Amino acid sequence: MTRDSRGRRTEVYPGIVFIAGYGRSGSSLLDAVLAKKMGALSAGELCHLFDWAQVGRPCSCGRPVAECAVWGSVLEEVARARGRSLHDMARTTEGAEMQGARDDIDSYYEDWRAVYEALGRRGIARLVDSSKTAGGRRRLDLHLNDPGLRPTAVVQLWRALPEVVVSTAHGNNVQLEFGDGDATARWVKPRTVVAWLRANRNAARSCRRAGSAGVKILRLPYPDLVASPDAAVSRLTGAETEEVRTLEDWDHAIAGNRFRRSGWSGEVKERRHDDARLNRMELAVLRAVSSAAKTVRWV
Ligand SMILES: [Zn+2]
Repeated sequence: MTRDSRGRRTEVYPGIVFIAGYGRSGSSLLDAVLAKKMGALSAGELCHLFDWAQVGRPCSCGRPVAECAVWGSVLEEVARARGRSLHDMARTTEGAEMQGARDDIDSYYEDWRAVYEALGRRGIARLVDSSKTAGGRRRLDLHLNDPGLRPTAVVQLWRALPEVVVSTAHGNNVQLEFGDGDATARWVKPRTVVAWLRANRNAARSCRRAGSAGVKILRLPYPDLVASPDAAVSRLTGAETEEVRTLEDWDHAIAGNRFRRSGWSGEVKERRHDDARLNRMELAVLRAVSSAAKTVRWV
């Protein structure tokens, strides 16, 4: 906590870069690259912070979230300050972001302000939140409404639909990492199309809102990200030649792609998904939907 010129106590919140869009689009990669280049904390899908801590899942640093060097003490402080359990905070976050629950919306805002204040007190000036806008998640909209939580920049990251469909057909991240659920569920392809459209439409809407609130917006297609992550960061920071500061201990990502928890070296490689896994009809439909989404400026 610091004091302003009149001696009033003020909280210091970190600047947030929010990654919006659908999964399987390179968001875990972008999160890591942005954090490293900007000297920010790579926080991953921060929407799952309480949830993952509660069930004992690992942070990208390798330790369980509730015991990690950053999140362990932050969560302890937040739980103490708020007088609430991880379970309650996880339920409130899920209710507010996914079900649009209004009952304990004040608790929701206070929980998250407490998280960011605790990070600010630990000297974390910037963080990347790649919670995205899939599944109707309203986190970005909710955070745009609150001055303490409002991102300073939003990246609308998108990847062409045929590649996303091939990627999701392998199973989702949690299924692939922890073996939950059925990775080969029927209807995965049509469900992915609907989910992709919804996530990107929501991202586009939220970005328009964010843009009119003065938040910096970057629309980033996946091929541009992998072709040159440095150029993507420069477009966001506006710094072409500026020497970037590297935060030594930047990698504490929640959820997201499992590569973050498997000793990632920092190397960026484009993962080409084989279109041969789709038949000609599927490929034609997916390409048509992709270009329709572009026409209405959802991607
Ligand atoms: Zn960690």
